[in-house]
Amino acid sequence: MMNANHSGRVYLVGAGPGDPRLITLRGAELLEAADVVFYDGLVNPLLLQLTSGRTERTARTRSGEHAVVRQDEINRRLIEEARAGKCVVRLKGGDPFIFGRGSEELQALQDANVPCEVVPGITAATAAGVYAGFSYTHRDHSSAVAFVTGHETPDREHSHLDYAALARFPGTLVFYMGLARLPDICRQLIHHGKDRTTPASVVSMASLPDQRVVAASLQNLAATVTEAELRAPSLIVIGECVGQRAAASWFERLPLFGLRIGITRAEHQIAPVAESIIAQGGQPVSLPLISIHPPNEQQRTAVRAAIDEIHTYDWLLFTSANAVNGFLQQLWNSGADSRRLAGLRIAVVGTATAAALEEACLQPDVVAHTAGAAGLADSIVSQATGQRCLWPSADRARPELRNQLEAAQATVEQMTVYRHEDADDENDLRERFHAASLDWIGLSSPLIARNAAEVFPELRQSDCPTRVVTISPLTTRAALEAGLSVQAEADDSGWDSMLQAIRHQHSRPES
Ligand code: SAH
Repeated sequence: MMNANHSGRVYLVGAGPGDPRLITLRGAELLEAADVVFYDGLVNPLLLQLTSGRTERTARTRSGEHAVVRQDEINRRLIEEARAGKCVVRLKGGDPFIFGRGSEELQALQDANVPCEVVPGITAATAAGVYAGFSYTHRDHSSAVAFVTGHETPDREHSHLDYAALARFPGTLVFYMGLARLPDICRQLIHHGKDRTTPASVVSMASLPDQRVVAASLQNLAATVTEAELRAPSLIVIGECVGQRAAASWFERLPLFGLRIGITRAEHQIAPVAESIIAQGGQPVSLPLISIHPPNEQQRTAVRAAIDEIHTYDWLLFTSANAVNGFLQQLWNSGADSRRLAGLRIAVVGTATAAALEEACLQPDVVAHTAGAAGLADSIVSQATGQRCLWPSADRARPELRNQLEAAQATVEQMTVYRHEDADDENDLRERFHAASLDWIGLSSPLIARNAAEVFPELRQSDCPTRVVTISPLTTRAALEAGLSVQAEADDSGWDSMLQAIRHQHSRPES
C-alpha cells in the first residue's frame, strides 16, 4: 500500500457562488479526477455531475436529512481518505479562503503531512456585485471595498469588529453571513456616524435563478428586507454603488429569469435542455416521467430480420430522434453501417428528428413540420403510393401513420427500436415535484402527458400554480384528454421551441 499512500492528495476547491458554471477550469478538471468529493452546504449539487467519484455532503447547519458534520470530523475524513491513496476534492462554496475555514482545513492537512493544493473560486461578494449590477469600486463613487463578517454579535464587548472604523470606511461594505443580524448591523453603523441615507442592499441567492435584490436606505433596509422575506444565503452591500444600479441587472433581464421549469423527458436526455434553461436564467428541474430502453430480444430479432432485407424497402420513416438513434444502434450492432441504407429515401417528422439523422451524416429527403405521425403521412403520401416503408419506432407507437399510408396503398412495416418505460420511482418524482414549486412543466410527448396527469394529480386542479407547455398539438390533445389544462404549445416540435413558447408568455416590454 506504500504507493497508494504516496498518490493520495487533497484539493481544496472553490465551487463558486451558486451558478455551477462559475467554477474554474481547474476545479472542474479536479472534480472529474476525484475519487471522493466532500462538499459543503453552499455548493450547488449540480456540480456533482462533473464527478464520478463518491460524494458526501458536510453541512454545518441542519437542513433536510443532512446532519451536521463537525469541522474536526471533516478534517479527520479528508486525512483518512488521502492516506488511503484517494484523490480527494474538498469542494467549498465561493472561495475556500474567504470566510470558509479553508485555511484551517489546509493547516490540518499540512500538520498531517498530507499533500494538498488549493484552487480559488469566485466569492459570493464578487458574484453578487456582478449579478445584481453593482460596481463596488466604480471610480466615481468608491476607491475601496471591505469584506466583513456579519456573523459576530455587533455589541461592543463581544465583537472583533470595529464599527466606528467600518462607519468611517471610505468605500463599499459587503457583509457575509449577516442576514440574521441585519437590524443590528445597520443600527451600529448609523450609531457610529454612517449617513442613514446611504444606499444599501441585500442580495440573496446571488447568481442563481432565484436571486433577489432588495435596496433601501441604510435606515430602512432591515424593514424592507423583512417585508420581502429574503432567505439565506444573502449578502449585505452598503455604499453609493447600490444607488447606481439600473432598474434590473443584466442577469434579471435574461428571458427565463426566475422561472423553475420541469423537464419530463428521459433522464439521459435532460442535460442539453437543462443547459439551455440555465443559459436563459431559468432553473431546470429534472422530472423524468419516462425512461428509454433498448428493444428486448424478440424485438431485436425482428429488427435484424428487417435490416437483412432492407434493400426491399423504398422508404425509411422516423417520427422521433430516439427512433433514429435506436435504429442506427441496431444497424451497427448487426455488423452493418449506413452504407446499407443506400437507395432508401428517408422521411422524418420534426427538426429534432432531422437533427438526430444529420448527426449521423444522413440527410432526410422529407422533413414534415406538422407534428405527429399524421403530419409525416401527409407529407409523403403522394410519393409513397404502392411503395414499401419501414418505420423504426417505439414499442408503443401510435397506429395513425400506418393507417394513413396503408389507405394510400403503401405498406408500412413497424419495428421496435426502443422501448418506453414509465418512471422508475414515482414517489421520488412526486417529492421532487412538490419541493420544486414549478412555474412551468414541459410535456414532450403524448405518453409523457398521460404520465404527468397520473403521477402529479395536482396538475389537474384548476388552481395549480404550475403551467403546462407541450411540444405539439398531439401532445396538447393527450394532455387535455388526461384532464390537464395547457397554457402554451411549441410552434416547432422540440424543447427549444417549448422554451420559446414560455418566453413568449413572460416577455416584458423593452424599457
Ligand atoms: N467561502 C464563501 C463564503 C462562505 S460564508 C465565499 O467565498 O463565497 C457563507 C456566506 O456567504 C453566506 O452567509 C452569505 O453571506 C454568503 N453567500 C454564499 N453564497 C451566496 C450567494 N449565492 N448569494 C448571496 N450570498 C452568498
